[in-house]
Amino acid sequence: MKTVQDYIRTIPNFPHEGIMFRDVTTLFSDPRGFRIAIDQLLHPYAGQPIDKVVGLEARGFILGGAIAHQLSLGFVPIRKKGKLPGKTIEQDYTLEYGTATMEVHDDALQPGEKVLLVDDLLATGGTAEAGIKLIERMGAEVIGCAFVIDLPDIGGRKKLEGLGMNVHALCQFE
Ligand code: IMP
Repeated sequence: MKTVQDYIRTIPNFPHEGIMFRDVTTLFSDPRGFRIAIDQLLHPYAGQPIDKVVGLEARGFILGGAIAHQLSLGFVPIRKKGKLPGKTIEQDYTLEYGTATMEVHDDALQPGEKVLLVDDLLATGGTAEAGIKLIERMGAEVIGCAFVIDLPDIGGRKKLEGLGMNVHALCQFE
């Protein structure tokens, strides 16, 4: 029986020479792969109170939307700067080269709401950390950070755990 990891395709030298890109489109396009990924992402949170699912652009939208539907919860997107139409709050974060900005609608979460944060892959943890800061700035609480893939050598899990986060990932690549 194939595992979640078996459905993920690796594309060498994308987007730059020397990078092994972990491509989850092959997981998403397989009916069994997508089903088991969503089921396994949810597994640790069964029975836990969650108010909203928040997804990070862009693959976190696909996963987070399916998870929110499964839990009968609302979904909130955190997007790259300039894409959301309403009033937003912004959070800068560091990339390999330079910085970037994520944003969320300033009324998307209420103080005290319990949030599950979702993305496809955890590398440095910078993107997820920006998402956590936005959620916490709105007074909401991140009860879990769920990823399909963890790249443990890069240290994102340690960074998020250092922030007191509960991190759940379905598979690891070196
Ligand atoms: P981080 O901020 O360094 O943890 O990088 C994680 C972000 O970069 C996530 O939003 C991922 O979607 C994206 N990312 C980085 N490397 C890969 C990859 O190999 N495959 C898919 N997404 C990636």
